[in-house]
Parts: sequence; structure tokens; C-alpha cells
Amino acid sequence: MHYKRRIKKKPLIILTILIVIIALICVYLFNIYKYYNSPEYKLGKAGYSEKEINEILKMDDKYIKYAMDNKYEDDFIALVNEKYFLWKNYDAYIKYIDDVYGDKKVDYSYVVSMVNTRNNYDYYTHMVSTNMNAGNGILVNKYYKLPDKYAPKDIVPMSNLYAYPGNSINKEVYEAFKEMAVAANKENIVLIVNSSYRDYKSQKKIYENYKEKNGQAYADQFAARPDFSEHQTGLALDIFTPGAGMTTFENTKAFKWLKENSYKYGFILRYPEGKEKLTGYSYEPWHYRYLGKDLAKKVYDSGLTFDEYYTYYLEK
Ligand SMILES: [Zn+2]
Repeated sequence: MHYKRRIKKKPLIILTILIVIIALICVYLFNIYKYYNSPEYKLGKAGYSEKEINEILKMDDKYIKYAMDNKYEDDFIALVNEKYFLWKNYDAYIKYIDDVYGDKKVDYSYVVSMVNTRNNYDYYTHMVSTNMNAGNGILVNKYYKLPDKYAPKDIVPMSNLYAYPGNSINKEVYEAFKEMAVAANKENIVLIVNSSYRDYKSQKKIYENYKEKNGQAYADQFAARPDFSEHQTGLALDIFTPGAGMTTFENTKAFKWLKENSYKYGFILRYPEGKEKLTGYSYEPWHYRYLGKDLAKKVYDSGLTFDEYYTYYLEK
């Protein structure tokens, strides 16, 4: 009995040892597998330095995965870390950098803003249809087109109390403007509308006049093409104060007041100074766009142009 038992124990020990060895090999192989598939290994193999790898590992999983699965890109980290970076535009950012900067130092914030707003393309190319469901928050510029020969509803004439003769505007915008003009008046500021709703036909006429006189490039610089003008939406106003014109309005008390307060009434300065490349328009101290109070405050607080705000926050 005693002897038999010892005989039986031996294969059990061998089996146990075998299992342990196999298990150790498995753990070893698994670790090798894990190593070669680790982000650190893959990123290092792609060419990223230790410092860059640490930066990348702080990013969202999708970016880590992208960097792991693609070849080294020296703009990758700077781009992804930009505040207004949009993943869908990544390839376009890279292309824009290659086209515009070459070996020069890249301004990533500028690149992101330019591409987000489609300004990497020439004006009136790669256009999209304005999403009319956005209501007061529709984007209309040299890339975002209104429906063909668009004519808005709810256009009402403006009283001579608030505008020079012949002006009309969206009803809601009119109410907001009146509220704003009354508030400005309390500070001895008179606001008067010089241009407001312009229908397709009159916008076409303005554009074609420029074009006939000085050619298309000139016309595109100073007038919007029909179906691309904010004035055609009934949501934009050119606001002046009596005695001031295009060259002098900027230096008036009225402009200073509008710049600081118009958002409280739902308006934003649409074409600010220094943002010409993003808006596609020269600085226009007089041109205000109605967005409604909530959205106007958000855009004002963001410090962005509406083109940037819309394409980053609102566009689906
Ligand atoms: Zn205007």
C-alpha cells in the first residue's frame, strides 16, 4: 500500500511542474505581447521622444491610438493641445501648415482658427449651405450660403426715429434695437440705422455695380455676393450716430458704447479689427449682427468671431 502510493505521486509532481512551466511561459509571452503593444513602445517606435510620449499619454484615448497607429507627425501634439482643435479637421490643419508655413515657425492657434472657419480655402469655394434651423444663430459668410434667393419672413419697416428712411428689419431684431437705442439715449448717445435688410435683388445690384466698375476681385473685397450677405437675413444692422461716417464712426462715443454694451441687447460687432482673415471682411465698426441675448453674450464672452464660435461650438 505504502509503495503504491509513492508511485502515484510522481506523475502528479511532474504534471504540476509542467503546468507551472507552461504558466510561466504564458506570463512571459503575454508580457512580451503587452510590451510590443504598449503605447510607450508604439509611440517610441513611431519616433516620439520620451517627453512627447508623456504628453501624448495625457490625451484622450482616440488621439493616443491615432499617434500609435500612424507615422511621426511633428505638429501632432501642438495641434491636439490647441483649445479649439477639431479632430475632423486634423488632415486639413496638416495640409494648411505644409502649404503656408513650410519650415517656418507655426502659429497653431491661427492654423486651427483658419481651418475651422474654412479660410484655408479661397473665398466662395468649398461652400456649404447655411443651416437655417439655427434660427437667429445662422452663419452667413463667404463659405456659408443662404438658400437660393432667400427672403426672410417678419420684415417690418423701421421708424425714422431709429433709422434713415427706407430701412426695414426683422421684427424681433427691431424690438431689440429699440431697447438698445433707448438705453443708449439715457447716456446721451443717439444710435441711427443706416442700412438694414437688403433683399436678394438689391444685394445683387450692389455686388454687380462693384464688379462692373472694378472687377470681381474688387467686388468680393467690398461687397458680399447675393445669398452670402448678412443683410439679406434681416438680422444685421449698420449702426451710426448722426454726424459720423464710415471713417469717423470708430472714434465716437456711440461706437465705444456699442462695443461694450450691444451684446446685452443681442447684438455683436460682427467684423472686428484684426480678425479680417477670419471673417473675410474689413473692419466694420458699424456692422452689428443680431444673435439673441443668450448667444450674443456667449460669443462676446468667448472673444471669438462669430465664424469661429459657430464652427467650433454650434456646427454639428
Ligand atoms: Zn453691414
